[in-house]
Amino acid sequence: MTETDKSKLPTDSDTGPETIETDTLVVGAGQAGVAMSEHLSRLDVPHLVLERRRVAEAWRSGRWDSLVANGPAWHDRFPGLEFEGLEPDAFASKDRIAAYFEAYAARFNAPIRTGVEVTKVTRNARRPGFTVETSIGVIQAQRVVAATGPFQRPVIPSIAPQDERLTQLHSADYRNPEQLPEGAVLVVGAGSSGTQIADELQRAGRRVYLSVGPHERPPRSYRNRDFVWWLGVLGEWDAQVAKPGKEHVTIAVSGARGGYTIDFRALAHQGITLVGVTRAFDQGVVSFQPDLADNLARGDENYLALLDAADAYIERNGLDLPAEPEARAAYPEPVCVSQPLRELDLAEAGVSTIIWATGYAVDFDWLQVDAVDAQGKPRHQRGVSSEPGVYFLGLPWLSHRGSSFIWGVWHDAKTIAEHITIQRRYLAYRDAGQRRADG
Ligand SMILES: Cc1cc2nc3c(=O)[nH]c(=O)nc-3n(C[C@H](O)[C@H](O)[C@H](O)COP(=O)(O)OP(=O)(O)OC[C@H]3O[C@@H](n4cnc5c(N)ncnc54)[C@H](O)[C@@H]3O)c2cc1C
Repeated sequence: MTETDKSKLPTDSDTGPETIETDTLVVGAGQAGVAMSEHLSRLDVPHLVLERRRVAEAWRSGRWDSLVANGPAWHDRFPGLEFEGLEPDAFASKDRIAAYFEAYAARFNAPIRTGVEVTKVTRNARRPGFTVETSIGVIQAQRVVAATGPFQRPVIPSIAPQDERLTQLHSADYRNPEQLPEGAVLVVGAGSSGTQIADELQRAGRRVYLSVGPHERPPRSYRNRDFVWWLGVLGEWDAQVAKPGKEHVTIAVSGARGGYTIDFRALAHQGITLVGVTRAFDQGVVSFQPDLADNLARGDENYLALLDAADAYIERNGLDLPAEPEARAAYPEPVCVSQPLRELDLAEAGVSTIIWATGYAVDFDWLQVDAVDAQGKPRHQRGVSSEPGVYFLGLPWLSHRGSSFIWGVWHDAKTIAEHITIQRRYLAYRDAGQRRADG
């Protein structure tokens, strides 16, 4: 470290308040904070990373036990380091991912302080920079990078019933089938989390109802290439905004059991009962929208469009990749789709648990500067916020589709570090008179 004197940083034994100074304060040491620190280090920007728990905490305590990465190891990583001892096409477990980021940060001696929560950031009056209140004291920083994650606060919709006979939890709190009381489970939400959790529970012998909304479901792989490769060469990762109407559409992919394509009809044939979007709960009865077949049809369209685009790409570039006609074969329509349930009496069906795989929101209450709108939504362009000196990193669609993913955040961090360096150069400018006075 240069400007921020390491000896002045609080140590593990420090508990009392104190003031330290740094140029750039990074809040959060998940993949975003680690990437940010790497780029700031390369550009010699003095900085400090504060993490309220441990490095890559979300991968340690915010995920279920059996989770593996959604993308293969060759793809879901930072450019400068491979996963040691893992085949490039394998899917890293959540523990390996956490260890990867810890090792990565150690490689360049990232100035990370763990166990320190940032509680409030305010802009200084009539002088540059920010006052940062933390769980162990006050920090003065010229800049602040909010790297607190794309998925901060689990969201359970207001329709959730007040019914003490039911165990209800968000997917963020799901760990394994044994954790749940005996009985059937309703999983609400069929993105990557809901679908994988439903599959795991059904394989563990549970009766499972899966509530399926609008989704995208790319093939796990097609013609010998993983879908992450296809999204790359087809320019889809680079998309800067979600397609109109697709902003809130979830993506259903899985790296579990070596990776497989999520096909809802296959899950139904396996024994899961598919239902439409969960509408309401009334006296122990849950009702569903009549949209299951439509949601599946739109998911199929999305799936087939990717196969078509891949075929066209192969043709245009004369690639020698084996044809895969079986990827277009469809399962017969299961009864739960042709005659969908519109209502379910939870007690009669033996449902003891509802798992809400309904996504997350951001929470920037601690960031009390002009960079967050009245709805709590960050205001920024490619991570550069409306409050000069405040940056966001790791948010979904920060600059492109890849922004909240492991490989994408590294590139956004680079852009933000470069922006910080340019700003520092402006501020370091001295006019002729000042230079003379400086000697
Ligand atoms: C179930 C699931 C599976 C996923 N799988 C993949 C995948 O396979 N591949 C992929 O590329 N992406 C995946 N993602 C998306 C993304 O990679 C992860 O969400 C990742 O954790 C985001 O990293 P981050 O550093 O931006 O945020 P986080 O990992 O959430 O890190 C933010 C950090 O900030 C800390 N923090 C928050 N507030 C404060 C504060 N006030 N003071 C100090 N510290 C604070 C937190 O403790 C946390 O450690 C997945 C997401 C989920 C939910």
